[in-house]
Parts: sequence; C-alpha cells; structure tokens
Amino acid sequence: MHDETLCLPIRKTPEDGFESLVVPLHRASTITFQTVESYQNRRDAIYDGYSYGLYGTPTTRALEMRIAELERASRALVVPSGFAAIVLTTLASAQSGQCVLFPDSCYDTIRPFAANFLQGLGIKSVFYDPEVGSEISQLLDDDVALVWVESPGSITLEVQDVPAIAAAAHARGIKVAADNAWATPLRYRPLEHGCDFSIIPLSKYLNGHSDVVMGAIAVRDVALYRRLKDFSRYLGMGASSDDASLVLRGIETLAVRLDRSEASAHILAQLLQARPSVLEVRHPALVASPGHDFWKRDFSGSSGVFSVFLDPAVRPVLAGAVEALEFFAIGASWGGTRSVVAILNQAPLRSVRPLPHTGPIIRLSIGLEHVEDLRADLEKAFDRLDAAVPAHATQTQGADT
Ligand SMILES: *Cc1c(COP(=O)(O)O)cnc(C)c1O
Repeated sequence: MHDETLCLPIRKTPEDGFESLVVPLHRASTITFQTVESYQNRRDAIYDGYSYGLYGTPTTRALEMRIAELERASRALVVPSGFAAIVLTTLASAQSGQCVLFPDSCYDTIRPFAANFLQGLGIKSVFYDPEVGSEISQLLDDDVALVWVESPGSITLEVQDVPAIAAAAHARGIKVAADNAWATPLRYRPLEHGCDFSIIPLSKYLNGHSDVVMGAIAVRDVALYRRLKDFSRYLGMGASSDDASLVLRGIETLAVRLDRSEASAHILAQLLQARPSVLEVRHPALVASPGHDFWKRDFSGSSGVFSVFLDPAVRPVLAGAVEALEFFAIGASWGGTRSVVAILNQAPLRSVRPLPHTGPIIRLSIGLEHVEDLRADLEKAFDRLDAAVPAHATQTQGADT
C-alpha cells in the first residue's frame, strides 16, 4: 500500500475487551453501510437507527435515551437549542389558519417569534393569563392546535395549574406542550401531568456548565416523535456529538448540583424578602409566590433561579450595586455552576393582565459557591439598595416559609 492510502483509516481498531464508564464520542457526517440495500433504505433509519450524522449518532442517541428516561417519556429528540425545541414543536403542531396559545409569562423570544414569524405563516398566536386554570376552555375553539405552558414562567415565575389546562385542552382534542426549563425533569415531569410534549433547554441545568447550547423534546407517543423527527429533517436541525457528550457528562452531576443550588437559593430568597428595597420575591417555594399551591402539589422541589421585584427608588444605585457583586456575573442565561444576575429595568411585557410592579427586577441564578459567600455579597449590595429607599415608602411580604 502507498503512503497516501496508509494515511487513511481503512481498517478499524479492534474494540473488543475495551469497556469504559463513559458514553463514547462518535463524530460523523457520512455513515457507511455494509450492503447496497441498507444504503438504499437508509431513510427508514432516521428515527431509531443511523443514516447520516445530521439525524443521529450513538452519542446523540445516548443523550436522547437519557432524557427520555428522566422525563418518563418513550422518546426524546435533541435539537440545536432550547428555542429550536419550541420552534420545532410549534411548527410540527400548527398549520396555517390555526392558532397557538402561549402564557403571558412566556420566554421572551416567543413574542417576536409569534409576531414576525408565525403570523407570516398564517398561524395566529393568543396569549393567556398564566394563572388561568380550567377557564382556559373559554379560549379554546376548533382553530386552536396547541397550548403551551411554561411553569413556572420566565422571570415572573408563576406556577400554572397544568393538569387543569391539559384536561381542558384534551377535552377538545388539543395538544399541550410544556417548557420545562426551570424545574428540570428531576423536579417536575410535565408528561406525568397531562402534557404531550416536554421541552428542555439543555443549555441550562442539564449541561450545567455554561458552555453548550442545546435543547430536547420528550414525548410518550411514538407517532409524535416520528412527526417531530420528520420536521427536524425538513428544518435541517441536528445536534453535535461533541456537545451531546458534554451534556451527558453534565447530567451525571445534575442531581447534586440541583440540590446545592436549590438549598442556597431558598435561603437567599427568604433573606431578600425582608429587605426594605424589595417589593416582592418570586420563588415558587415561597408561600406568597403565585401558584405556590400548584408547585407544592406537582413539583418535587425547586431549582436555583428566582426573581426580585425592587422598589423603583433603587434605580439610581442599582447598576453600581450589581456591578460591585463579587460572586455574581452579569448575564442572561442560567443553570450553570457560577451564580449569575440578570437585570431588567422594566417588568416584562404583559398583554393580558398587568404585573403588580413595574420593575426594576433582578433575576438570580444561584450557583455552587458557598452560600455564606453569596449571602455576604448580596447583603452588601442590598445595603446600598435599601439606603436609596425612603423609609416610609417600604413594604414587605412578611413572614414566609
Ligand atoms: C433559556 C430558555 C429557553 C431557550 O433555551 P436556549 O437553549 O437558550 O435556546 C427557552 N425557554 C426557557 C424558559 C428558557 O429559560
């Protein structure tokens, strides 16, 4: 054989006798076939086998199996981002002339997606009060193809009565999709509460190290899985094996990371409730937080993300106080090892029912640092915020669990 040919891997290295604890990283665009017939039938393999790197490798399939098990689903599909999971689920469910319902507390990219993209396809979007339960039936008609729930909602963290919403939708044959970002399947499993789709932004807690963007959709119905897989093909969506192997690594420590973030966040949320500059703390485990009773009924715990509505009087000192935080990075995403703070000058947009406060809001994602360091850091910042609030104008939520 010539050098040029010897440079190429013609023969496989034997793997017999090699077993590691790790899911192997398989990279591929081309996948090879032993026979012409199996090559010609490769399209049948996109759902469960291997036909082309875009449609799955043993590494991405391993991640899909892990997610399906955690969500108590029969199948899961990994896609390029959490938002891609929302897009794919919506487009595979609704056609031109139909309507999709979103909670008013939805992830912020939903609104421009609805107005600038879905509308252009002839798909109507209707926003509804996240605190509605079975009354959602008033919004359901023959045109509604899909109801989204996001429980708890982005930033404002309203926990929804998902079983009541799902029952009302199913009574009319309408499917229900849940965005399970905040709780992860370790704290909440939407498919066990009546939802047909559970989407997870893997970029958050499941990967958990702020270095991967990926999403997943879990379903029980295999026909739905096949439809999602078909649509992911039409949209050219796939997921990188390298990133999938990082998420598989992240999931191995998910339970202990969540336990730590949950415990620290609960302590800090309670602490901040008593601060004069704080109008309201939104954290599903606090009794005054909207939908707390549904959280207690349906969730097995909480995570490390909560929001704080601040007195508008703090505006002049807020940026300085946040920039002085030592252990909180300023940033938008969450669910990683490091604590992160996001600042909203205004409360998020509401089209159905106004929020009780106008903002500003800070959203905290509590990481794995020692809670005492985080506490001291936050106390210093809130000393500055409290000093900006006139004493007579303050109100607090009172004692809480
Ligand atoms: C982050 C997030 C998404 C989007 O996930 P990406 O992977 O960042 O695209 C969707 N929904 C919610 C509730 C989120 O928090």
